[in-house]
Amino acid sequence: MTVILRTVGEVRAWRGALPAGRKVGFVPTMGALHAGHISLMALAKSRAAVTIASIFVNPLQFGPNEDLAKYPRPIEKDLALLEAAGVDALFLPEVADLYPEGASTFVVEESVSGPMCGAARPGHFRGVTTVVLKLFNIVQPDLAVFGQKDAQQCAVIERMVRDLVIPIEIVRGPIVREPDGLALSSRNVYLSPEDRAAAPLIHTSLQAVKAAFDAGQHDAGALAAIGRAVLGQDPRFTVQYWDVRDPKSLAVIDNVGRGGALLAVAAYLGTTRLIDNIVVS
Ligand code: AMP
Repeated sequence: MTVILRTVGEVRAWRGALPAGRKVGFVPTMGALHAGHISLMALAKSRAAVTIASIFVNPLQFGPNEDLAKYPRPIEKDLALLEAAGVDALFLPEVADLYPEGASTFVVEESVSGPMCGAARPGHFRGVTTVVLKLFNIVQPDLAVFGQKDAQQCAVIERMVRDLVIPIEIVRGPIVREPDGLALSSRNVYLSPEDRAAAPLIHTSLQAVKAAFDAGQHDAGALAAIGRAVLGQDPRFTVQYWDVRDPKSLAVIDNVGRGGALLAVAAYLGTTRLIDNIVVS
């Protein structure tokens, strides 16, 4: 049975009643759960005795012209998936639980969150770090699992945890994909049939660049140009960035060295924004 906890007080009571020393694993989500999310639940279960997920569509991480209002919220289906995955508890707060009236304190990471999605979505990572720290303070997990799908989010959270000395282990779960390579995303339901058919080209462009890297091309600019060219073959795509960066700091690199590189893409298909990435080393 997945117990549903709706308030901060309910989570605290649940947490307080757990036998001492039991490791708690936490998976924060925005719901509309798919196999990618469920893989993170399984990872949390393999690493912790007790697992708790959260579903919260965080208004603070959406820009004024983004999809907050229409973000899918199939809560009954989500709950059934969490039950089937054997997740022990679900934190399902309301906006007012996390943002009391007049809330005026925010968490701002100022380096890793700058480029890529940070540049494309001003304020997004401020919303992410603020809500994740609140969730951490409420749930007080021993470890928290995040998906490599959002590689920059992982890097930002890892930096926040290090800088603010938060006693929580951050675990990254690998990207789960459709058979044709498209990374699973709650936003894939927005795609028209034509756009859905085109979408795997994002993964194809990542693989083409990985192949060039494996064949000896280590110049970051040349690699990014290959990725952009592959995605440019289909005019349906509007590429926001196709970057080759340091996987931890997300700094621009000239050459891919020992630390490897994050190959990261953000592109629009119609009005749907998709992101994907691969790490090469
Ligand atoms: P979201 O509900 O989109 O905020 O995602 C919740 C968590 O699931 C985040 O840590 C995401 O990185 C992760 N996630 C989303 N899609 C995937 C995927 N295809 N594979 C693995 N993890 C994912």
